[in-house]
Amino acid sequence: AMSDKRVEAVDLSHHISNLSKARLPSPLKSLAKYMGKPGLITLAGGMPHPDYFPFADISGNALPQNSYSVDASSRTSSLSWIWNIFGSKPKTIPVTIPKYPTASDQVNLATALQYGQATGLSQLQAFIKDFAAQVYDPAYSNWTCLCHTGNTDGLTRVFLTLLNPGEMFLTEEWTYPSALATAQPVGCKPVPIRMDGEGMRSDDLKKVLSGWDEQARGAKRPHVMYTVPIGQNPSGATMGVSRKQEIYDICVEYDIIIIEDDPYYFLQMKEYRLPSERTTSKTKHDGAAFIASLEPSYLKIDVQGRVIRLDTFSKTIAPGSRLGFFTCNPLFAERLERQGETTTQAPCGFGQSLITQLLVTWGYDGYVRWLHGLAVEYEVRRNFLLDTLASEFHLRPTLGVQGIWKGLEVFVAYAKPDGSEKFGYGNKLFSIVPPTSGMFLWVKLHFDDLHNFQPGDEESLEMQMFIKLAESGVIVAPGWLFAGNPADPPEPGSGHFRIAFSNADPENFKKAVDIFSKVLRDFHKQ
Ligand code: PMP
Ligand code: PLP
Repeated sequence: AMSDKRVEAVDLSHHISNLSKARLPSPLKSLAKYMGKPGLITLAGGMPHPDYFPFADISGNALPQNSYSVDASSRTSSLSWIWNIFGSKPKTIPVTIPKYPTASDQVNLATALQYGQATGLSQLQAFIKDFAAQVYDPAYSNWTCLCHTGNTDGLTRVFLTLLNPGEMFLTEEWTYPSALATAQPVGCKPVPIRMDGEGMRSDDLKKVLSGWDEQARGAKRPHVMYTVPIGQNPSGATMGVSRKQEIYDICVEYDIIIIEDDPYYFLQMKEYRLPSERTTSKTKHDGAAFIASLEPSYLKIDVQGRVIRLDTFSKTIAPGSRLGFFTCNPLFAERLERQGETTTQAPCGFGQSLITQLLVTWGYDGYVRWLHGLAVEYEVRRNFLLDTLASEFHLRPTLGVQGIWKGLEVFVAYAKPDGSEKFGYGNKLFSIVPPTSGMFLWVKLHFDDLHNFQPGDEESLEMQMFIKLAESGVIVAPGWLFAGNPADPPEPGSGHFRIAFSNADPENFKKAVDIFSKVLRDFHKQ
């Protein structure tokens, strides 16, 4: 075996908020350590007898791990690709959870529906601990995992555990609004850091921290960072390991805790090529190669234990499962668990047991196979949306333009001529960086190419265009919603739309792109 030089997390207890410090173990829960001993007669808890749970068992039929092909080549060669992957009714595998187990280590309802630990079912804990070890491979020794009820719950817990009212936290200049909404009532404002095509920029992070002026900012230098490094919401950016290392090193220097909110981690995909330049080769599943192809988590470089990673089953199983987990140092995990005990307690026993049993049935290799199939599904969807745009507009790849996409290949869309005299054929309509992860295409609209554009009009132009689209039957997410600081728009002269390629079917993608094209052209004709 490899010699393991990993050491324990450094002491980061000074990051705990006053609220979190004040949390005591829930008095009855503190007795739990005595529970579970064989032969123990427990008369302490107000636990209903499992005979009174009306469910004798629960069961479902789930898709097998290999339901989705990992071979995109047969499906991306033309626009007329067959969406219905099964052709006929999909095969399923049964997943059953009895109330009373025949073996004591079996997932069972007598335990899952009982009061339990906020850490989650023991079989689920074992699965995710092994999964995190194999996939994320944290760089310190005493990391641990803890269940939560999805990353939204996870974020609330982390913010309340780390932030005192009035503190500020670092984040991307475009970010997930619910994260801001979580911190806002605590009185904690974001400090937006500039981005490029890889997400948060390390040079701007360093600049903000080294030049922090407590007086001018009205807050102490931040000690917390909230980041979405893969499939960034809304920009779709994917952060590679060298950028992560640069940011991590700065976080060590300035003693910052990194909250890695990573719902799209497994939706990583190959780079986009225009259909004319796409070479297709058959892909076979190789679990180890698939995992190795993924950009590593911050955990992989976290030698000190200063990363709190949030995983969710929302994008890999279903959002309604309301299940996910933290991976972090034991000190933070203990505080997060205390908070869970006074809010959600354990995640819902029905969902937990069904998902646990599905994961146990698939096994580690099976779950990795499922994730690989999903990643390819999203790649095919991304390709379809971009191919449709490429057939509607002149999409020109260019390298290294200014601003958010510096250094990455950007596709600039120009209109194809439509015989209208007023229409400027050379107008830039929008730019995109084809995403290599996640669910979103971030569209930068070139308002400064409108002939009557006035600086300051960006937000209102974006809303006008949004309304035109909505009235024509297409809803996209207006970029303004995602601004870390709406008063300071990151890119003057532009507007943005976030377009999700995760859900529509091909026919509707085509209709939406037609409508988008017409609305954009009308705008540029005005
Ligand atoms: N309130 C009281 C008075 C209780 O006795 C209990 C459970 N023993 C609870 C709340 C906890 O309820 P729940 O399981 O719905 O979280
Ligand atoms: N974090 C980010 C960045 C997201 O994009 C989303 C979902 O859209 C969530 C968290 C919500 O995750 P969950 O369903 O696990 O609460």
